Amino acid sequence: MVSKIELKYKKDIYDKNKSFVDIHVNQFKLSKNNLADVKKVLNDKNLINKIDKGYKDIIVSLKEDIFEKNNNSEKGFKLTPNILNEFETLDYNKRLNFLIHRYRYDVYPQKYLIDKYPPYLQIEPTSFCNYRCVFCFQTNKNFTKRSNGFMGHMKLETFKLIVDKVINKVEFISLASRGDPLICRDIEKMLAYTNDKFLNLKINTNASLLNENKIHAILSSGVKTLVFSADAADEKLYAKLRVNGDLKKVLKNIELFNKIKHNKYKNSKIITRVSGVKVNDSQNFNKMRKFWGNMVDQVAFVDYCPWEDVYSQKVNTIKSPCSELWRRMYIWWDGKVNPCEVDFKSDLAVGNIFKNDLSDLWLSKGYNLLRKNHLNEERQKSYPCSSCVVT
Ligand code: SF4
Repeated sequence: MVSKIELKYKKDIYDKNKSFVDIHVNQFKLSKNNLADVKKVLNDKNLINKIDKGYKDIIVSLKEDIFEKNNNSEKGFKLTPNILNEFETLDYNKRLNFLIHRYRYDVYPQKYLIDKYPPYLQIEPTSFCNYRCVFCFQTNKNFTKRSNGFMGHMKLETFKLIVDKVINKVEFISLASRGDPLICRDIEKMLAYTNDKFLNLKINTNASLLNENKIHAILSSGVKTLVFSADAADEKLYAKLRVNGDLKKVLKNIELFNKIKHNKYKNSKIITRVSGVKVNDSQNFNKMRKFWGNMVDQVAFVDYCPWEDVYSQKVNTIKSPCSELWRRMYIWWDGKVNPCEVDFKSDLAVGNIFKNDLSDLWLSKGYNLLRKNHLNEERQKSYPCSSCVVT
């Protein structure tokens, strides 16, 4: 029996624009050479002529933010090593488009701007998870009780319908949300359907169910970033945080991934990251970096947000808008569309992808009313935003 862990880093306000507390990117530094690569694509007339006219102003803003403003300035676009890492893995003719969509992802939520599509879309292959991490809504029995209807796997046809609807419209996608995607029965076929379709496709997993077939499916798909969720550098702490998890098994699976990648996918440019949730002082980033740094390309900690149960929190007095409303949208396994995963029971759901196009949902009356309440400092009118700390 493990002792209960203290979720000490609970915040009064969770600034989603700054959710990374630490990130280490192996062998990657901002240098004059890679800045020159960025400058080149931002000035390449052939590439610019192929860009949607509505995005041309973004190129001007990117140039100003990267080359004229101080990279430490509070707002605007910041070229960080992990962005540059992703940029450099792309073919030259995709790089301008990548910067534009990354700008939409980073800056639109800061300035509360929207256009026809969300900058980022999370598609949930399943809501099931085999872990019960202490900071996660999977600990909520009302959520995981099957008869309550929140649990399920996405069908392959649903996944294909979504991909067909969003291709060339949303470029940044994550295959993850409330559950671990590798549990989904059709995940290998889903992955095969993503090939060459998105500029940035990420999949997050606890790595406990990685096996040879799934590793091949990931490495031959359109996945650009593979995130392994882990928050500790020793077995004891790992087991306390990632309840039901076994660090030895996870390490074995990641080693197998690296072996297959090295032997069979030498040209793969996939970026691997270990990403943990920082919940208290027993976790040390230097230890994490030393422990995981040789196995993956990036090691990161994100701030803990009280995800596990927003519904039981007190109504707060936060006035700042929640940036998620301008950043991303979630599609659950059953096609339901929700503005965030903090609201894991979908009280804020705006519709269903079977009935509506993504753009109609993103610009719908319900979504815009929610945004209006937040901008008018009246987020307490919307439940559960009333008790949520995300800004
Ligand atoms: S519950 Fe409301 S405030 Fe919290 S993350 Fe979701 S949309 Fe934002």
